[in-house]
Amino acid sequence: MDMSCRLKTEELRAQRSKLLAAALLPWFLALAGGAPAQTVTGHTGGTKVILLGTGTPRPFPERSGPATAIVVDDKAYLVDFGPGVIRRAAAAAAQGTPALEVTKLTVAFLTHLHSDHTVGYPDLIFTPWVMGRKEELNVYGPEGIEEMTKHVLQAWQQDSDIRTKGMEHAEPLLVRAHDVKPGVVYTDESVKVTAFRVPHGEWPQAFGYRFDARGRTIVISGDTSPSSELVANCQKCDVLIHEVYSPVSVVPSMPDWTAYRAKYHTSTEQLAEIANRSKPGILIVYHTSGRGPNGRIPEEQILQEIQKTYHGKVVIGHDLEIY
Ligand SMILES: [Zn+2]
Ligand SMILES: [Zn+2]
Repeated sequence: MDMSCRLKTEELRAQRSKLLAAALLPWFLALAGGAPAQTVTGHTGGTKVILLGTGTPRPFPERSGPATAIVVDDKAYLVDFGPGVIRRAAAAAAQGTPALEVTKLTVAFLTHLHSDHTVGYPDLIFTPWVMGRKEELNVYGPEGIEEMTKHVLQAWQQDSDIRTKGMEHAEPLLVRAHDVKPGVVYTDESVKVTAFRVPHGEWPQAFGYRFDARGRTIVISGDTSPSSELVANCQKCDVLIHEVYSPVSVVPSMPDWTAYRAKYHTSTEQLAEIANRSKPGILIVYHTSGRGPNGRIPEEQILQEIQKTYHGKVVIGHDLEIY
């Protein structure tokens, strides 16, 4: 090998390792920061869905509690605030979505009052305020969200007193909750948000939401057994985000779990039928509940169960993915 050729090979090798380092850097930084790396999965236009939390009550470290962000340009709309919501929003902001900087979180919608969807509420109320949010936080949800808001504010009364009256000189904390009925619950220049009723066992009210945003229609199920209203709201919608369980999963701690699941949640087979009737551009599966007799059910198996009878585009969602 002559000198110039060896030089070229070395240059190439150096270039290749530089490229590799550049590709791996975001993953390394994300891992170092403790949050999963963000994956852009195709859609990067004006209206994006960012999965902040795809979990259930079970505290898997890589699956934060249920929380989804719809981002239209520089404005974010949250659906649900499960545990971890603010840390995940901060991670998404750090990884390239400035609309999710926590001080900009001012609009949220709640599907239902189950604790796995609401335990992050004090976090949503207080952390962005402590970090400098000046605008009012507006939260829309089923009957009971106004009451819950009152109690959360009371529970942290000493904190807000010390912060506003003491040396921190914090601005007043502005929060407004809205008990809403099914129908159009919110509109602005970027979105129209419609709440629709979904059946979730013994809950008197649980909602799914439909976002008519610029260029895209996004429907999110919340927790639900099969819902014809959901199908009516997603007729060829662009994105359907839906909960699921596998029929092979078991809930040994619950005496009547087969009846419970049928009333509260949607099986993979039922979800396939829902997707066949609603024909979404993409089906994103989240909030996968239940465990198999031998532990966690592999994602591949959940996908295969759905794909037995549904042949459209379907993915298992993960925290911090963008669609
Ligand atoms: Zn849930
Ligand atoms: Zn629930």
